Amino acid sequence: MKRIGLFGGTFNPIHRGHLQVIQEVMEAFNLDQIKLIPAALPPHKESGGVADAQDRLQMIRLAVANYPALTQTATVSDVELKRPGPSYTIDTVRYFMQVLSENSALFFILGLDAFHEIDTWKSYLDLFELVPFIVMARPGVYRHDGDLKWEILEKYLKSKISDAYRFSVSRSCYVHAEKQPIFVFDVTPLEISSTQIRESVKNRRSITPLVPEKVEDFIKTKGLYL
Ligand code: ATP
Repeated sequence: MKRIGLFGGTFNPIHRGHLQVIQEVMEAFNLDQIKLIPAALPPHKESGGVADAQDRLQMIRLAVANYPALTQTATVSDVELKRPGPSYTIDTVRYFMQVLSENSALFFILGLDAFHEIDTWKSYLDLFELVPFIVMARPGVYRHDGDLKWEILEKYLKSKISDAYRFSVSRSCYVHAEKQPIFVFDVTPLEISSTQIRESVKNRRSITPLVPEKVEDFIKTKGLYL
């Protein structure tokens, strides 16, 4: 069984925070492969300041190619960029379930901040039946630290998705008779966001510590985010 993670995002631009969490999730969940899936028109982000889709794709390719821990295992998918209109996770998950061999186990990876908005996503209840989730706690963005954030997640899960979820200590995840499991994962704090990078570029501050070198070169050459 090949374990494959799907990791969506705006990647506007990809940064070291993404690379770090991807590497950690892959190791912790023993994934064989991870697919990075930039969204075409992010339905939940204001449209201003989104770099061209092909540029975002290219920056992901550059980042992965120059990050040895991920070069063999992370691949970039343009499936959402090829689909007309906004990108919906449900369509992406269904697509990969169709095209990947039956010998694949899929996981959908997302941040806790995104998870708390999931009840606004298209066909979100179906998603919970289709694919197991890995929810990573991203530092800095979410206002509650420590275990409180997981208590809040549990409340959200039970009130918005189904109150039949139970935490299984032996499996270290939330389980449900009819739905897929939900794993939670604390990642090493790395307070970097794409927003911070776009602002730094605009204000002519250095982004060297925040993005891989090739990505920085690309942003400069193309004059992105100015
Ligand atoms: P923006 O600042 O524009 O909102 P972002 O930095 O959140 O962008 P996205 O491409 O939207 O980047 O993120 C994709 C996924 O990666 C999300 O699930 C997000 O929670 C997660 N993520 C992004 N940065 C980090 C980080 N530093 N640590 C952990 N998770 C992160």
